[in-house]
Amino acid sequence: MPGAVGPPMLFASTRGAAPPVRLSEALLAGLAPDGGLYVPHSVPRLSLDAFDPADDLATTAAHLLAPFAAGDPLAEALPAITREAFTFDAPLKPMAGDDASVLELFHGPTAAFKDFGARFLARAMARLVPPGGRPVTILVATSGDTGSAVASAFHRQPGIEVAILYPDGRVSPRQAHQLGCLGDNVRAFRVAGSFDDCQRLVKQAFGDAALRAERPLASANSISLGRLLPQMSYYAHAALGHFRVRGEPLHLVVPTGNLGNAFAAILARELGLPIGEVALATNANRVLSDWFASGRYEGRPSLATLANAMDVGDPSNAERLAWLFEGRPGSRAGISADTVDDEVIRARIRDGEARYGEVFCPHTACGVEVLERRRRAGDTRHHAVVATAHPAKFETVVEPLVGHPVAVPPALAGMLARPAHAEPLPADYEALRAALLG
Ligand SMILES: *Cc1c(COP(=O)(O)O)cnc(C)c1O
Repeated sequence: MPGAVGPPMLFASTRGAAPPVRLSEALLAGLAPDGGLYVPHSVPRLSLDAFDPADDLATTAAHLLAPFAAGDPLAEALPAITREAFTFDAPLKPMAGDDASVLELFHGPTAAFKDFGARFLARAMARLVPPGGRPVTILVATSGDTGSAVASAFHRQPGIEVAILYPDGRVSPRQAHQLGCLGDNVRAFRVAGSFDDCQRLVKQAFGDAALRAERPLASANSISLGRLLPQMSYYAHAALGHFRVRGEPLHLVVPTGNLGNAFAAILARELGLPIGEVALATNANRVLSDWFASGRYEGRPSLATLANAMDVGDPSNAERLAWLFEGRPGSRAGISADTVDDEVIRARIRDGEARYGEVFCPHTACGVEVLERRRRAGDTRHHAVVATAHPAKFETVVEPLVGHPVAVPPALAGMLARPAHAEPLPADYEALRAALLG
């Protein structure tokens, strides 16, 4: 329970060479000082009795996350943080034409699941970076959805500046618009280079002690615990609701790239929530399925696919999965990985309406394909496919396949109606440094 006394929850580094820290220190640090990722020092086990099935998402989230904030300055504020962050729902909707459901994670302001993590982190940071002190700059590189979720979450937050770097011409026009339309404390930089260039520039800035002395920096990328932990909330909420009605755990199909969203599902299951199998669905970047099959992890350069938010060849959260499963996730029951190529993504989007009455985004389509493979293999159990984004975000892929326009959800339409501006930036560190100091 929030504010309960007990031993503080500590977070250790996956690399084991950094001192354990409490939640707020981990949130402010992002990466552990030894280069590893923060993980719970010990995984708490939750009693399902602590959850009231009638609770809404924000209340479920506050119960779920309370043990992780034990002994931390954020503990008391947790119910307020989840209430301010989760102002929209994550409905589990039955799928027409199959005994399956879709867990819709796209009802937030930027129409992708990253709104949950980014908004939680922003509300937590609001407590950790008091207004009136030195402003902190949230610096992120984005290939699309992360940047808009982070920009929207921190927009007009006192004490926070936001700098978003994206590869010019390599995000969809609507994604670019979302990044540039906020203004105020949010600066969008369109970098003349690739996403890898953007990431390199951000890394250089974090390694630049002189810059950081003048401009304190904080990170909001997918390795941040402040995004990872809250993502367990919608899995908990959906699984508890399903368990109450059906008396069985909820099997999940999670489209994945960097393993942030999927690792949250797996961690929620470790806590004791009624989650069954977790099937990971990747695009043609097959690093996970190869790892699970061979037992050897081999990161590689990413391939460009239609499901571009999952174009990851070397997922950073793989280090957390390796920590949890002692390096060999493929040997464990209850987790699998499947790869889906562009041709099949197109087919699932094209026939989604006829089969299920739904238009899927390219990422969600990977999940639908993995469900269909299970059905063909004779698996009749109920599964929830996780819908990571609204199809209207990827209209240039989706609309030609379904043959009609896809209605834009109101929050997204509101963003698209604003004027947008991004500053051009060469893929050169001195230019970024000057822009941040200027
Ligand atoms: C970020 C993103 C993903 C991949 O999530 P990870 O946490 O990186 O696995 C999938 N779909 C959409 C729409 C995304 O924005």
